[in-house]
Amino acid sequence: MRYISTRGGMPPKTFSQILLGGLASDGGLAMPETYPRISPSDLDEWRGLSYPQLAFEILTRFADDIPAKDLRDIINRTYTSEIFHSKEITPLKTLSPGLHILGLSNGPTLAFKDIAMQLLGNLFEYALDKTRKSLNILGATSGDTGSSAEYAMRGKRGIRVFMLSPHGKMSLFQTAQMFSLQDPNILNIAIRGVFDDCQDIVKAVSNDHAFKQKYYIGTVNSINWARVAAQIVYYFKGYFAATRSNAEQVSFAVPSGNFGNICAGHVARMMGLPIRQLILATNENDVLDEFFRSGCYRPRTNAETRHTSSPSMDISKASNFERFIFDLVGRDASKVKELWRSVDKGASFDLADTPLWESVKDFGIVSGTSNHASRIATIRRVYQDYGMVVDTHTADGIKVGLEKRESGVPLICLETALPVKFSESIIEAIGKEPDRPSGFENLEGLPQRYVVMDSDTDAVKSFIAEQA
Ligand SMILES: *Cc1c(COP(=O)(O)O)cnc(C)c1O
Repeated sequence: MRYISTRGGMPPKTFSQILLGGLASDGGLAMPETYPRISPSDLDEWRGLSYPQLAFEILTRFADDIPAKDLRDIINRTYTSEIFHSKEITPLKTLSPGLHILGLSNGPTLAFKDIAMQLLGNLFEYALDKTRKSLNILGATSGDTGSSAEYAMRGKRGIRVFMLSPHGKMSLFQTAQMFSLQDPNILNIAIRGVFDDCQDIVKAVSNDHAFKQKYYIGTVNSINWARVAAQIVYYFKGYFAATRSNAEQVSFAVPSGNFGNICAGHVARMMGLPIRQLILATNENDVLDEFFRSGCYRPRTNAETRHTSSPSMDISKASNFERFIFDLVGRDASKVKELWRSVDKGASFDLADTPLWESVKDFGIVSGTSNHASRIATIRRVYQDYGMVVDTHTADGIKVGLEKRESGVPLICLETALPVKFSESIIEAIGKEPDRPSGFENLEGLPQRYVVMDSDTDAVKSFIAEQA
């Protein structure tokens, strides 16, 4: 399997060559040259596999330059019941006939990003061992991504994590999750500022190419192809759990921000998984819903991005969306390049009056949007009707999923976080605190380890240089 860029300017590379990289050299995103096709007999064989066995079958098709024995070992160490708290890894709960929740948030940070990030930690360690290099991961977080990256990279050989977060702006739970880590290779930097200040520092450091090279600075952002590949697995797992035969179709409801999770669903469908609809749900930040309703992709500015009660979907620009457009335009990289010339300038593009808009239908994606009132109402309704408490992001997905589902087609709603992470909204919806999973009882009382710094790129650089 070779990887090419959505903008056509990268010589084909192997999986290992793109694993540690961010954007391709031409500014595009890495994509497999072709999607592996899964035959009906593959599906028959895979139906009975455990999560790690299934993950191996899928990932070996994308990471075919990693020896099978090594890949199997990496996967077996990643998807364990110690880390994900059940043998199924992503258990399916049935609320009523044809309505299911796929639990993706039983990993160490209680959000679905762990599924890909835990694998990434082991893949990075393996790749760095081979090259005898050490990597300094620099990131900015307002919550979920940073903690998921830290829990995946803690204690890993050859990896140090520098994670910037806005001082005093995360929830107590999120802060404690990150800052209570005592591993020497995890360095939390609380910046006196807001999330955008943190992100600006990361950009400034990344643009200093000499510094970046000298200290071998990397990222773990959501455009990393290995993260998308890891997420393909649970679409297959969910499908098998919700159906009896491979003649059946299912639809998935997916709460979306950066188009990462649903991108994996799109790839699963292209590979031949019988997915009828991929139902994309946004919150008030509805840039993706706008595209799938109107054909116009209009990324917003930071100032236009609203802070909502499903904060992990508060994005103004969906970084993985370029991958979908690459497929939509029939993999014509020059077309993608042309469209992103506008996007990279902060402008929009509109496909409504082009033949491309017609073909969007062929990809099965439909969309809808949610807001604070509807997500609270959904949490309440799911609790009253089924006795289950869901988080705010999952609620956005359920709300839109129920609106768009078709009769006779089972609907699988992806659960992307546990409610304990967003207890304020849960109390508002059902009048009581969500349950705490065991192991988290005293989280906020644990000793914390972090440094506080001004929003100053040079200070952050000196700190990295001192530690590295
Ligand atoms: C990141 C995240 C999302 C959005 O996923 P994308 O891959 O960015 O579309 C949804 N819910 C939760 C809880 C998240 O952490």
